[in-house]
Amino acid sequence: MTESKNFIQQIIEDDLSSGKHKNIITRFPPEPNGYLHIGHAKSICINFGFAEKYNGQCNLRFDDTNPSKEEEEYVSSIIEDVRWLGFEWGDKILYASDYFDEMYTHAETLVKNGKAFICDLSAEEINQFRGTLTKSGRESPFRNRPTDENLDLFRRMKAGEFSNGSKVLRAKIDMNNSNLNMRDPVLYRILHESHHRTGDAWCIYPMYDWAHGLEDSIEGITHSLCTLEFEDHRPLYDWFLEQLNVYHPRQIEFARLNLNFTVMSKRMLLELVEGNYVSGWNDPRMPTISGMRRRGYSPASIRKFAENLGVAKREMTADIALLEHSVREDLNKRALRFMGVLDPLKIVIENFPEDKVEEVEGINNPEDPSAGKRKIPFSRELFIEKSDFMEDAPKKFFRLTLGKEVRLRYAYFITCKDIIKNENGEIVELRCTYDPETKGGSAPDGRKVKGTLHWVSAENSLPMEVRLYDRLFTTENPAKVEEGGHFTQNINPNSLSVLKGSRVEPAVQTVKKGETIQFERQGYFCLDSEDFSEQYLIFNRTVSLRDTWKKIQKKVDNNFG
Ligand code: ATP
Ligand code: MG
Repeated sequence: MTESKNFIQQIIEDDLSSGKHKNIITRFPPEPNGYLHIGHAKSICINFGFAEKYNGQCNLRFDDTNPSKEEEEYVSSIIEDVRWLGFEWGDKILYASDYFDEMYTHAETLVKNGKAFICDLSAEEINQFRGTLTKSGRESPFRNRPTDENLDLFRRMKAGEFSNGSKVLRAKIDMNNSNLNMRDPVLYRILHESHHRTGDAWCIYPMYDWAHGLEDSIEGITHSLCTLEFEDHRPLYDWFLEQLNVYHPRQIEFARLNLNFTVMSKRMLLELVEGNYVSGWNDPRMPTISGMRRRGYSPASIRKFAENLGVAKREMTADIALLEHSVREDLNKRALRFMGVLDPLKIVIENFPEDKVEEVEGINNPEDPSAGKRKIPFSRELFIEKSDFMEDAPKKFFRLTLGKEVRLRYAYFITCKDIIKNENGEIVELRCTYDPETKGGSAPDGRKVKGTLHWVSAENSLPMEVRLYDRLFTTENPAKVEEGGHFTQNINPNSLSVLKGSRVEPAVQTVKKGETIQFERQGYFCLDSEDFSEQYLIFNRTVSLRDTWKKIQKKVDNNFG
């Protein structure tokens, strides 16, 4: 099969074969003002992925030019997430703040060349003067300040003589340019604030647009891959680099990843955390990488998802079902199988001896024979899933009902003989018998049963808490709300349900924190890596075995559509 190349690959390969570049260098430049989400994962896979593919290098660079919103916690979470996804960067982690001196020197160059000036307009005035897409801008009254005065003021700005907001350094480009980014953009502002790495060394900080292209140039980035919203900024970056006559990377834009049923704006994610709508940035319902890790998604499944989506030039929204599909495919191949009963109903096998515990053998992973087998204790008192029994069962109900025979997975055929109810009429116990001839789950006389149930021994099983997650939002595009509305109104009130009395077979004790397994017939579950109890195991549902949501959605659509 020949692999079809996307437009970025094509450019990189052309640059390598023409000899324009010997080694490609890309970069992933997060601003440390939040945790990484699945959209970032896409960007990481593209940037690190191409570097890997073409034996180049991808820099992990923190775009830490904004002192007010950045925190160490975000830096370490980002490092952890990139590493967890399975990528490596060059010799060391890079920080935009390491280039503050160089950026400042470049800014002085612009000033000296009459290409930048100190402006005393307020932020609001600058905004008003900028004009709009249909109206040209107005020049600042400070635009024609003499060069010497600009240089002097700039140095005094740096020295801390002026208060926040009283002055800025602006590029002198063109207030009539059809591209608003070119209308004398601000390069430096005054912020008397400590920075997480440079401390109090600076009280002027570079604006994103000034800093970003320079960072790429300083690092010798060959292909600066970024999202489409930077297309309109490219002429500005080009202008800066030309004025300074420094190395010029090639910027290529691609479409950002959007995912339905979730939000990806850092501001909204922060609001979910701070408003306690979720338990934190790594809540398993969050679209963050740390949330997905805690939920039990593997790096491989996230990478596969990103790869399947390809690189696009046009904005699109991916279906979250596609991500879940990728997660399932990966887990199906490698997750160990266990039996866990989420909502237990006790059954007593009347013809099985009271003190006897027998061991039956279970297959650890039918997809992978090398995963081997395990022993599962079988005893007189067992638990099955409440939903696997029905008193007044319809014809098509193949699970357990009074008088009918079913198979207990890996064990025996059993028949339900009697139902025991409490004073409220609720079923509390079933009395059954088993056929000792059917050990292993088949009858020597060849008779068949339609239903196979999972089960655990009552005595020889472990208690567990199971957290069932559903989508965090009920609408496809939760960020979209009517006038006066707020995205939190679209939160799914049932996105988490906690089951307290669940039971699981003892072999599960070998499972490690953060490992995802399958509970047969129930789905994939991850042993929680954060919360811990002495009394019981805590499992997060990673994903159901099938895409039940799709079916429900279809039904809803059919009914109302
Ligand atoms: P903001 O800049 O508003 O804080 P951001 O999501 O752009 O948010 P950055 O930290 O600047 O956050 O992002 C780092 C990199 O990840 C950028 O190069 C950006 O283009 C890329 N990126 C962010 N969101 C997505 C997305 N949804 N799909 C693909 N790439 C993304
Ligand atoms: Mg950004």
